[in-house]
Amino acid sequence: AAPALAWRHDGDFASLGSAFYTRLAPTPLPAPHWVARCDDVAALLELPAGWLASDEALQIFSGNATAPGSQPLASVYSGHQFGVWAGQLGDGRALWLGETVQDQEVQLKGSGRTPYSRGADGRAVLRSSIREYLASHALHALGIPTTRALCLVGSPQPVQRETLETAAVVTRVAPSFIRFGHFEHFAARRQTDELRRLADHVIERYYPQCQSANNPYQTLLQTVGERTAQMLAHWQAAGFCHGVMNTDNMSILGLTLDYGPFQFLDAFDPHHICNHSDRLGRYAFDRQPAVAYWNLLCLARALLPLIGTEDDAQDALQTYEASFESHYQVLMFAKLGLQGPPEEGDAALLWQLLHLLAAQQVDWTLFWRSLSQSVADDDFTHARDLLVDREGFDTWLPAYRGRIARSEQAGAAARMLRTNPRFALRNYMAEQAIDAARQGDFSVVHTLQTVLQHPFEERPDHADWAGLPPDWAHSIALSCSS
Ligand code: AMP
Ligand code: MG
Ligand code: MG
Repeated sequence: AAPALAWRHDGDFASLGSAFYTRLAPTPLPAPHWVARCDDVAALLELPAGWLASDEALQIFSGNATAPGSQPLASVYSGHQFGVWAGQLGDGRALWLGETVQDQEVQLKGSGRTPYSRGADGRAVLRSSIREYLASHALHALGIPTTRALCLVGSPQPVQRETLETAAVVTRVAPSFIRFGHFEHFAARRQTDELRRLADHVIERYYPQCQSANNPYQTLLQTVGERTAQMLAHWQAAGFCHGVMNTDNMSILGLTLDYGPFQFLDAFDPHHICNHSDRLGRYAFDRQPAVAYWNLLCLARALLPLIGTEDDAQDALQTYEASFESHYQVLMFAKLGLQGPPEEGDAALLWQLLHLLAAQQVDWTLFWRSLSQSVADDDFTHARDLLVDREGFDTWLPAYRGRIARSEQAGAAARMLRTNPRFALRNYMAEQAIDAARQGDFSVVHTLQTVLQHPFEERPDHADWAGLPPDWAHSIALSCSS
């Protein structure tokens, strides 16, 4: 039989040449067992029916066997971490297995040490792997560009973090795992030939429309800026806080990448810091769009030898802010159910509401879903009840009702219910899945996967996952440790 994974070799990442990576095999993982698999991603790779559940697949995705035709590699990159140049980093615990004929790269995360491990163990723990696995499904289902997870394998192998945990491997999939940091790496070393080869590869494979531009590298930067702006607009609208927006975690395709101490907001606190290690709040929720711009400036500096002048590089990023604002406005107006050409007071309606929600730290996901239901029922009691200061809401409401009434209200409600999810991956939910998984019970992972893959469905049978977080959720502390 033909191998389940069909690799393409022409024009893949490996064809960039050995300056970009080191070939090596994964480190075997003792006694691997399945934690979860995703049929949607299996379908994306056109895997034969049932193959993903096979023992052969388990051996490949735990790193105990090499997929036929795969020559795994760890890539080298550098980056800025928390605003500081960190020098060489690289795939310290990830391995690229290849690119399939569906134009999807397949990567193991947690597959053992590489030349870029910098003294660390090359492993990922079950806890953070469950979080990455579920989050990538959750973001994808919300329409947010992201890497995707094919499957998750666990093992009894002990891994030392703050406490002793166990190892896991997530297999993730994306058209490319190239990061801003890949460009920074070759720029910092003044390896202009490699820098150009990388840029040409990215343009040819992912941004071919740049080829006909006056200055293709400048247009590349502008296009990456716009993709990034779009991703950031989605994060802000969904209440998603990434937590570690280092330049080595920024995808050149504008995909959400490297899930660590991320968080979907519970209460709406614009200044929320989800990463316990982020003492200064560099990556606070409301700073994300500005940080992404800062990261784009790092990319611009890296591309400078190709672009030519600093002015041209600066110009390429001039569209970022407007691009972010327009995407954000479209997404937020959709959350409000506004349709048709924007009206004079629309922006004010949005800002007044956001102020109200922030002042009272109203639950982000619950509020928008309740507002959608309120529009559907033409009864705003449920949304109103989520606020402590109901006077503020009562002051805001008439203008909003008037505006909604001028659109087609039934249509608006239906759209809002497809825009404002009933389910988000809150920290406490991931925590419950992790606790059960540590006892060998993966049913919570599976339930959450199902629910989060259809976040707009009402699912009364899963109403438990649609409410306010329990009180203990406030004490969950997430760090970079993963
Ligand atoms: P992160 O903070 O997860 O984005 O990782 C930053 C860098 O550290 C990347 O180059 C990772 O590959 C590397 N890294 C993180 N954790 C480990 C680990 N346990 N073993 C080896 N390298 C790691
Ligand atoms: Mg990373
Ligand atoms: Mg990482």
